[in-house]
Amino acid sequence: MNFPDLHRHLGGATHPRILWGYIEKHATDECRRLRSLYPAYDDFAREFNRPFADLADYLTVHHLVEALQAEDVPYFTFRAVRGASVFESLDYLELRFNPYKRTPRGLPPAERRALMADVARQVIRAARTEFPIATTFLLCMDRGFPPDLNRAIVELAASLPEVVAVDLAGPYQPGGPTWDEWEDLYAEAKARGLRTTAHMAESDPDDVRPALFPHLDRIGHGIQIALHHPHLLDELAARNICLEVCPTTYLRTNTLRHLGELRPVFERCRAAGVAISIATDNPALHGDAGRIVGQYELLVRDEVIHFNDILHHARVGYENAFDPRR
Ligand SMILES: [Zn+2]
Repeated sequence: MNFPDLHRHLGGATHPRILWGYIEKHATDECRRLRSLYPAYDDFAREFNRPFADLADYLTVHHLVEALQAEDVPYFTFRAVRGASVFESLDYLELRFNPYKRTPRGLPPAERRALMADVARQVIRAARTEFPIATTFLLCMDRGFPPDLNRAIVELAASLPEVVAVDLAGPYQPGGPTWDEWEDLYAEAKARGLRTTAHMAESDPDDVRPALFPHLDRIGHGIQIALHHPHLLDELAARNICLEVCPTTYLRTNTLRHLGELRPVFERCRAAGVAISIATDNPALHGDAGRIVGQYELLVRDEVIHFNDILHHARVGYENAFDPRR
C-alpha cells in the first residue's frame, strides 16, 4: 500500500545518518564546527533523539539542520525524497521549506533574499528522482520574519509552478507580522492562485486565529481546536478546512502524554465533518516510529483509529492534496 504525506519539513526530512555522512565528507566551517561539538555519530544523533522539553526546544534542531542544508540543498533534498519513496512507501509528498533559511547565514539580508529563488529551484530539481514518488512544494513563511520578507516568499511561491502553497511556520518569536498583516499575506497568496495552510493550535490551546480561517485550505495540526475549542469545528467543516495531524510530534514536544489523548480529536472531527490527514512533520526527529506507517500504526495501537480507518485517512490525504493534477 502507498501513502500520501501532506506535512513534512525539509529540515526534518533528512535522517541524522545522512547529515552525519555529509559532515564527515566535507571540511566547511559548519562541518568542522559540528564535528567539534559532536565527536561521533552517536553524539550527533542524540541531539535528534533526546527528549525535548517543549515545542520551542524541539524546533532548535531545525536551526542546526538549516545551516547544514544551506551548504548543499540538492544533496539533502534528493536523499530525503528517495528515502520517503523507498523506506516509507510514500507515492505523494508535499515537502515544505523556508527558502531564506537555506541561504548562507553570513551574507547580508538583501543578498540572502536575492538567493531565495535559486534555492527553491535547486530543491525542486533535486526532488526529481527516478523513484516512484510525486513531490510538490510548499514555501514556509516565518513567524519571526518582517512582513515584506514573508511577502517576498509568497511572490516567489506564486512564480514557481511546482510550488503549490504557502505555510506559516517557525518558532514563536517577536518581530513578525501582526495578525492583520498575516491576513493580508494570506489574501495575497490566494489572489495569486496559491493554496494555503498554517501551523496553528499545535501545542498551545490559545494559538487559534479564526480570522485566518477564511484564507486557509488546511491547518497544520489544529488538534487544540478540537480539544479546547470544539465549537469552531463546524466552521472548519463548512470551509472544507482539512487538519494535518502528525501524531509523533505531540509526544516529542510534550504536548500530549500519550496518543490516546487524540481520541476526542478524531471523534469530534468525524462528528463535525472535518477531514483529518495523517502526516509525519519531522520524521528525522522521531526515531523509528517517525515514518508515515509508524503514524498509522501508533494510532491503531492506541485505539485512536481502527485498522479499517487507515484507507479512509490515506484517501483523505490524496483528496486534500495541493497537487493540481489530483
Ligand atoms: Zn510542521
